Amino acid sequence: MKEKKNVQSQITYEALNSVSEGMSRRDALKVMALGGAMTAFGAPTKVEASTKSDKAVKVLVVGGGTGGIMALSRLRSDLPNADITLIAPNEKHLYQPAQVFVAAGVECVDDMVKDNKDFIDDSIHWIKDEVLSFDPEHNKVTTRAGEVLGYDYMVVAMGLVYHYDWIKGLREEDIGTHGISSVYLNNLEKGTAEGGSFDMGLV
Ligand SMILES: Cc1cc2nc3c(=O)[nH]c(=O)nc-3n(C[C@H](O)[C@H](O)[C@H](O)COP(=O)(O)OP(=O)(O)OC[C@H]3O[C@@H](n4cnc5c(N)ncnc54)[C@H](O)[C@@H]3O)c2cc1C
Repeated sequence: MKEKKNVQSQITYEALNSVSEGMSRRDALKVMALGGAMTAFGAPTKVEASTKSDKAVKVLVVGGGTGGIMALSRLRSDLPNADITLIAPNEKHLYQPAQVFVAAGVECVDDMVKDNKDFIDDSIHWIKDEVLSFDPEHNKVTTRAGEVLGYDYMVVAMGLVYHYDWIKGLREEDIGTHGISSVYLNNLEKGTAEGGSFDMGLV
């Protein structure tokens, strides 16, 4: 098996390098596809890892953004008997990659905002709140409202916190003023400065 892997990576390596040596990308991709086919045909047994389980486990997902919603969808289909709870405050899903298109004026905000409920299966218990504290020693979390929830497994997908103030001279409240814009603010009205343009400093 190890040898097969080496053959596969050698083919991939050669295919990738051939791109710079004059082979077209299309031909290189064909070679890479052939490498995959060779490995599949040559495999003595087909080993498939199954992620499905019928166990009645208790699963908690924290965060209703892209990561949390995707995890929920996968967990629901792979763990049909699991008791799944989502803790997320947001009713709306913001498709962040589209923010660049909104900033460029080719899409509008409505195109990138969706209702979270459309992506959450009815069987999922959705608590519209935030987690205030985690207690991993005892498999428990506490919400802002003071509710304590236990779990067997937990997925934490709470996104990022931006530190605009780590950019020397910039404060978050400056965004949207003086031509300073940011597509990362998750607030297109505030984040897109009037008069903001590439030459005036689109962050
Ligand atoms: C302008 C832009 C362009 C991008 N382009 C691409 C791209 O082309 N391709 C790509 O793959 N990715 C792209 N990304 C990145 C991608 O959008 C993010 O990686 C993705 O949205 C992150 O998902 P997430 O679930 O980790 O976080 P988020 O989607 O930010 O969700 C976090 C969630 O956690 C919730 N939350 C926060 N704190 C708590 C708490 N205490 N308790 C409960 N819930 C909480 C929030 O309410 C939110 O719902 C882009 C991002 C931006 C901003």
